[in-house]
Amino acid sequence: MIFSSLQTELDERAANDLLRSRRTLSTPQTPRITVDGKPYLAFSSNDYLGLANHPQLVAALQQGAQQWGVGSGAAHLVNGHFSPHHELESQLSDFIDKSESLLFSTGYMANLGVVQALVGKGDTVFADKLNHASLNDAMLLSRAEMKRYRHGDLAQLEQLLSQTKKGRKLIITDAVFSMDGDIAPLPELLALCEQHDAWLYVDDAHGFGVLGEQGRGSLSHFGIASPRIIYMATLGKAAGVSGAFVAAEKVVIDTLINHAHSYVYTTASPPALSVALSKSLQLIAQGDALREQLKKMITQLRKGLADLPWQLMPSDTAIQPLLIGDSKQALALSEGLRNHGIWVAAIRPPTVPQGTARLRITLSAAHTSSDVDQLIGALHELAC
Ligand SMILES: *Cc1c(COP(=O)(O)O)cnc(C)c1O
Repeated sequence: MIFSSLQTELDERAANDLLRSRRTLSTPQTPRITVDGKPYLAFSSNDYLGLANHPQLVAALQQGAQQWGVGSGAAHLVNGHFSPHHELESQLSDFIDKSESLLFSTGYMANLGVVQALVGKGDTVFADKLNHASLNDAMLLSRAEMKRYRHGDLAQLEQLLSQTKKGRKLIITDAVFSMDGDIAPLPELLALCEQHDAWLYVDDAHGFGVLGEQGRGSLSHFGIASPRIIYMATLGKAAGVSGAFVAAEKVVIDTLINHAHSYVYTTASPPALSVALSKSLQLIAQGDALREQLKKMITQLRKGLADLPWQLMPSDTAIQPLLIGDSKQALALSEGLRNHGIWVAAIRPPTVPQGTARLRITLSAAHTSSDVDQLIGALHELAC
C-alpha cells in the first residue's frame, strides 16, 4: 500500500518525462568521461577550472591522508577540528577579505545552517525566485517568514522590504544563478540592505574561483564589500574538491559555531580534504591563464550557437543554458548529443520553472577549442 503510492508518484513523473535516474562514470571528472561503458566529450560538470583531477591536488590529498589519516572522527566542536581546517579557514578569509570564515561539509549544509542560525520566527527572508533549492529548503527550516521576489526584480523586493517592519531581515541570493548563468545585481541588493537594515547572504557556488580578481568571486567582480554581506562559496565546483565555507564578521561566525545545526551536529570533513583545498586555493589564485581559457571557450560557444533555432540564455559565465522549453524535446536533444558522443544534461522542472527545460551546457578551462567546435557542429546537425 505505502509502496504502491510511491510507485504511482514515480510513474507520474515518468509519464511527464520528469523521471530522474543516475549514470555511472568509470573515469575521473574531466571533459572526457566514460559513462555506462561509453566514452563522451562532456559539457556538464561544475569543474570550471579543470581542477577536479589535477595532479597537484591528487598529490596534496595523498600527502594529507598520509599525515592526518582519513577520518576526522568527531564534530568540530568535540575534537574533530584539525589544524588543516583552521589554516584553510584563515586562508579563505584572507582571500575573500573578510574577518572570519567557517568550513562546512557541503554547500547545501552551509545554506541550511546559516539561514537557520541567523533568522527564525518573527524574522523575514527575502529570496530571488530562481535561487538554488538548498536556499529554499533553508528558508523552510528557519521558520522565518518567506518573501520570494521575481527573478532580479528589485522594485518588487524594495516593496516587500518596505512592508516589513519587525524582526531581522535577510536577503538571500545566488550570485551566479545555477541553472541560468546570469549574475545577480549584488551592488543594488547591497544598497537595498543598507536602506532597510538587512543582511545580504550571497551564495557564490558558481562565482568563486571563476569571477573577480584572481578568482576571488562575485564580491571582487563587483568591487563591493560590507559587513552586511555574509558570503558563502562551495569548494566542490571550481575549487575541484568538496565542501563549502562562509565568510563574515566575527559575530556572525561565532553565531554559526554556536547555533548552525548543520555545523554543530555533524562529523567534520576529513582534514586531508582541507590540505587539498589549501593547494586548490593556490592554484585558483595563480589561475589567470585558466580563467582566460574559460573565457575564450565561452566566447567561442556563444558565437557558434548564435544561429540555432534554440536560444542560448543571456549569460557571460561558464553556465550556458540552451533553452528548449519542452521536457521531452530537451531529453531527445540530450540523447541526440549522446549519439554524437557528447554529454550534456537536460535540466527539467521542478529544477527549473515549467516550460523552460534546457540543456545546461557548462564550460571548463579544460575544454579545447576543438572540443567546443565539436559541440557546435553536433547541435547544428541536430537542428536540421
Ligand atoms: C551546488 C550548489 C549548492 C550546493 O553546494 P554543494 O557543495 O554541492 O552541496 C548551493 N548553492 C548553489 C547555488 C549551488 O549551485
